[in-house]
Amino acid sequence: MADQMETNDYENGWKVLEELTENGHRIQEQVLEEILMRNAGTEYLSRFLHGQTDKQLFKNNVPIVTYEDIKPYIDRIANGETSNILLADPISEFIQSSGTSGGQPKLIPMTAENFEKKTLELTLVDPIVKRYFDGLEKGKTMSLFFVKKGSETPSGLTVRTLSSCYFMSDSFKKSAPKICTSPIETILCLDHKQSMYCQLLTGLLRRDHVVSISSIFGSVLARSIKFLEDHWNELCSNIRTGCLSDWITDLGCRNAVSLILTRPNPELADTIEHICGNESWEGIIKKLWPEAKYINSVITGTMSQYISLLDFYGGGVPLVSPSYGSSESTFGINLTPLSNPYNVSYTFLPNMAYFEFLPVDKDGGEKAQESDFDGVSSQWSSEITNANGNVGPVDFANVKLGQYYEVVVTTFTGLYRYRVGDVLKLTGFHNNSPQFQFVERRNTVLSIDMDKTSEADLLKAIGNAKRHLEPLGFMLMTFSSYVETSSIPGRYVLFWELKFKESTRCPKLDAKIMEQCCSIVEESLDFTYKSLREANKIAALELRVVKHGTFDALMDFYVSKGASINQYKTPCCIKSEEAVKVLNSGVVEKFFSSKTFFLS
Ligand code: AMP
Repeated sequence: MADQMETNDYENGWKVLEELTENGHRIQEQVLEEILMRNAGTEYLSRFLHGQTDKQLFKNNVPIVTYEDIKPYIDRIANGETSNILLADPISEFIQSSGTSGGQPKLIPMTAENFEKKTLELTLVDPIVKRYFDGLEKGKTMSLFFVKKGSETPSGLTVRTLSSCYFMSDSFKKSAPKICTSPIETILCLDHKQSMYCQLLTGLLRRDHVVSISSIFGSVLARSIKFLEDHWNELCSNIRTGCLSDWITDLGCRNAVSLILTRPNPELADTIEHICGNESWEGIIKKLWPEAKYINSVITGTMSQYISLLDFYGGGVPLVSPSYGSSESTFGINLTPLSNPYNVSYTFLPNMAYFEFLPVDKDGGEKAQESDFDGVSSQWSSEITNANGNVGPVDFANVKLGQYYEVVVTTFTGLYRYRVGDVLKLTGFHNNSPQFQFVERRNTVLSIDMDKTSEADLLKAIGNAKRHLEPLGFMLMTFSSYVETSSIPGRYVLFWELKFKESTRCPKLDAKIMEQCCSIVEESLDFTYKSLREANKIAALELRVVKHGTFDALMDFYVSKGASINQYKTPCCIKSEEAVKVLNSGVVEKFFSSKTFFLS
């Protein structure tokens, strides 16, 4: 199969992509055949297929499931039963999903062979960016990568996040010195503060060699720039004296940094101090790393909230959202890196898993008419029928342009017709492979009474409101929300962390304008929300502005609960009371919508 081709050289990598996408339908059929050949005899599939490997039987009999349905099998394996109850190949370890966007962390089986396949996706991104940006081979990436300590199941299987698994792999350790400015020891350091400090320091020391900046998600890059804001004085002092700060106690970090921080360099310290000492940090990335050609971070979905901030810091360095994947499977890659960050489509890779697409529609005609975000609304409905029905999931060959789908995946690692929980929109094709825009996670909603406000609805509404602030020099750094039900009726509460563009000090907010922002959010929500507001079944929306660093504290809170910093996604809406407490402790001002009529 095409994925066995050598992809190290770029020309060849591009050829592999063309071959994969041209033969998308055939490869998908082969993938399903192979999965069934290997796994039809497992306890799980035998229940539905009775040992047969027929693809149509699979589509007719195997149910579409969620994680909860397969969890009993995962738990049995974690507790010591053999993994062939779910998949024929031995499990090498469990991958822990982040759990911050979709709820509880999940354990996803991984095999050695599948891990290789997943890393292929990363090598395929290289030939694409090479086509668009010259001179990448002459420099390195300033990476902001982190690992998280793993754990073990009762049966002794390792549990790690996918990114930790990748960064700890031999292949990454081997390639890192060639591609990253961060020494591998700084990436592998388990203390995130020391790791971030040393990665920024080495990135600054090698600033002339940096041709791209990379983190897995945009939120991590945003966090790192804020960290730089708090630590640039100390970083410059280290560069000036040639001595690393004493609080960096991790020996791996100290040794690795000492090989790069070899002498006092007052000229470099002066240059960086001059750049960072500027009141405004607009374009700071371009100024600190003048050779950087692009920023490589996922900035779609919930991460789109960081686009304007990263644009501001980037100073014209393009934002490239390279790929779309999850702990369960790799899905697709972005073939047009220079596309508008708000408009990125991912081309599905047919060799990664067997994909089906469950058409989803909006509940309620009024919502359908009202929404102006390409028809996305807050409620998704799907009717699951088997392969003979019209509404059931469709395969690669039968997806329709403009339709919304929930992606359903059958993997080599024991997931069969598994709902990932992401809603996507089909925007086009590359050869015979479909291209999708990420729309939202299906089940992250704010809800009061009959209203269900989705992630995409909220993102759009907040996008409208923050535009009102931008001419005044304010930027929304990040946001979250929750449903406040301590009074009746309940209300939606937004938390906003703001930044003033011109200076690190934030001037006083104009209460009137902030109230207008609340009203704009409400006006942008759907018909159901507005009618319930008018009927006083939902109280006025509240906006709580939090002080600088509050969302860092939220990330720290989730990381302390086991989330991985690499895969952390600021939750659009928060259900955990403890997390709400973290945000509440940073509140500096509160505003309410004063609007009362929406429909009349
Ligand atoms: P995890 O299982 O922790 O790796 O998280 C995977 C989830 O992150 C996916 O199911 C998506 O909801 C989200 N995600 C991953 N890549 C992207 C992307 N490129 N755009 C938007 N959301 C993404």
